[in-house]
Amino acid sequence: MKFIKKITLIAILALLFIGCTKAPITGRSQLIMMNPQEEMKLGYASAKQILSKEKISTDRKKNAMVKRVGQKIAKVTEREYKTNFKWEFFVIENAKQANAFCLPGGKVFVYTGLFKYVANDDELAAVIGHEIGHALARHGAERMSRGQLAQASGQVLNAVMIGQGSPQNTAMVMQAFGVGTQLGVMLPHSRDQELEADHIGIVLAAKAGYRASAALTFWDKFAKSGETPPEYLSTHPAPKNRIIKIREIIKKKRLR
Ligand SMILES: [Zn+2]
Repeated sequence: MKFIKKITLIAILALLFIGCTKAPITGRSQLIMMNPQEEMKLGYASAKQILSKEKISTDRKKNAMVKRVGQKIAKVTEREYKTNFKWEFFVIENAKQANAFCLPGGKVFVYTGLFKYVANDDELAAVIGHEIGHALARHGAERMSRGQLAQASGQVLNAVMIGQGSPQNTAMVMQAFGVGTQLGVMLPHSRDQELEADHIGIVLAAKAGYRASAALTFWDKFAKSGETPPEYLSTHPAPKNRIIKIREIIKKKRLR
């Protein structure tokens, strides 16, 4: 009898912990009702969609810069977190979009419009680190577990995974991953997720050999311009508040 009670207790505890994970680096508790493999498949399907609709930039300098910086941060991420992502880096030709994102599975997109705010590799590392931070902390899957897609059946998500989802469901997945521009209305990340991506991004960029303080100069440009690019459109962390938080992390972790 005692044994059965014990087994029941273990089963209840196991059920409670299903879907409970911790975000890397910050250790924040997360509720994610999707496994990483499914999430990556959705990421790859979304990447295909983007590549079928957007124009890849032929600018050699920008392409080289994104690959150089991206691959260094990806290497650190892979070494420390073993994500098994199939990393690839793309520059999208669109001067009006100061945007960037990384999908689960490691497909990273940077829009040419972002370069007016990026002066050097260190600042680009702040951006790419932030985007990889979202993917590493599985913010997209976390959003899907909270939002309308939480009720979606496996069939619905499967259709999206193989590129045969309805436009509406496909758009919802893309929104959860933070994909904006012409592919649909951008849904900003929550304040917590934005600050967490900043935190993770700074640490990854620093480990890859970049100056963490470049995140400060990057954000300072937005604070001065009054403009906020779509991926960072979350109304809560205004550039100024963001800078304060980033400064705290740099100080606490003794980064340069
Ligand atoms: Zn973000």
